[in-house]
Amino acid sequence: MTSVNKKTVEDINVKGKKVLVRCDFNVPFKDGKISDDKRIRGALKTISYLKDNGAKVILCSHMGRPKGEFKPEFSLAPVAERLSELLGCEVKMAKDVIGPDAEAITASLKDGEVALLENVRFHKEETKNDPDFAKKLASFAEIFVNDAFGTAHRAHASTEGVSHYLPSVCGYLIQKEIGIMGAALEDPKRPFVAILGGAKVSDKIGVLNNLIEKCDTIIIGGGMAYTFLKVLGYEIGSSICEEDKLDLAKEILAKAKEKKVNFLLPVDNVIAREYKEDSEYMSIYSDSIPDGWMGLDIGEKTQELYAKTLKGAGTVIWNGPMGVSEWEHFAAGTSSVAKAIAESGAISIIGGGDSAAAVEKLGFADKMSHVSTGGGASLEFLEGLELPGIACLEEK
Ligand code: ADP
Ligand code: MG
Repeated sequence: MTSVNKKTVEDINVKGKKVLVRCDFNVPFKDGKISDDKRIRGALKTISYLKDNGAKVILCSHMGRPKGEFKPEFSLAPVAERLSELLGCEVKMAKDVIGPDAEAITASLKDGEVALLENVRFHKEETKNDPDFAKKLASFAEIFVNDAFGTAHRAHASTEGVSHYLPSVCGYLIQKEIGIMGAALEDPKRPFVAILGGAKVSDKIGVLNNLIEKCDTIIIGGGMAYTFLKVLGYEIGSSICEEDKLDLAKEILAKAKEKKVNFLLPVDNVIAREYKEDSEYMSIYSDSIPDGWMGLDIGEKTQELYAKTLKGAGTVIWNGPMGVSEWEHFAAGTSSVAKAIAESGAISIIGGGDSAAAVEKLGFADKMSHVSTGGGASLEFLEGLELPGIACLEEK
């Protein structure tokens, strides 16, 4: 697992130093305008610290998938503009990443000034973690700060490559992510409850295997519940099921028993005739799912059971919605679990892109201790994997 004891911007002297900061400015756009600037605001703490402490701040990020070539619609210029407003100072926008404009702008920076390089993914060398590209990028600076948690599970030139040439530390965002999630995994306040859902067992095998070693209770919802129910002999109609994962589900159930982990599955479900937002639907116990119907959410009895279990929890880690929460008729399970977590007073951590989006949409985000900003990265962290963009940073 990734060590969480990393040096931060506060552990090094940044005064007068050129500092390259990898941010996550991968923001959504609508009609040519930034439609949500949360990620830009999230980066302010680290940027302001560096600025206030006299660093020459050189920011970089990716945005979208320009596939290794310059495409104006993926330019970070609108981010520089928004950032200038938020910081209340000019953010100098370079026209390239490692070209003459970036070189000139980074060389001209005065203490406390901020520049932003163009989208690092305008170069195919970025995702290939090309050493020459990384070296050139690193040559603009004297220190590297990684503050992009969302790409920390990728060994790219701007997330890992540059660390080979510069002293490297983390920013406040990564520090918070690994601090909270690391503490929960290493020394959880008990009872420690994991809630796992989402579409497929196969997406969550790693998380299941890691958390089953640490948790007191595992709560299952979402499409993956039906693979488990099938193993236990239930008829599951046309619910999503991975036939080739039945053995694995069986092993997980056996492991839970062996480790005395309380393993909870839905006792009732909201089922639908079709996989459609406006499908006919009804509630039914898990032992009575009719042929041709599919489970798209946990039912009310299950909601009550899960809420009761969550009530006494010390730590809760949640990944994967309890149903097709994008659709109104199948969102109640996810909503009720979110409410139960909020009311439990437990340390609560939400990982995974769709889970974070569901919690936000249902209005529970500010009731959680931590909603991870990195979908794939948070999953890999919960799997106990080493994240290259964090492993490369200096230990305290
Ligand atoms: P995360 O991104 O948080 O890791 P996942 O991607 O694993 O979460 O799961 C989210 C997806 O699972 C959503 O698209 C949701 O519609 C789907 N899902 C949840 N429950 C079911 C179900 N019962 N049947 C089919 N799909 C489901
Ligand atoms: Mg997802």
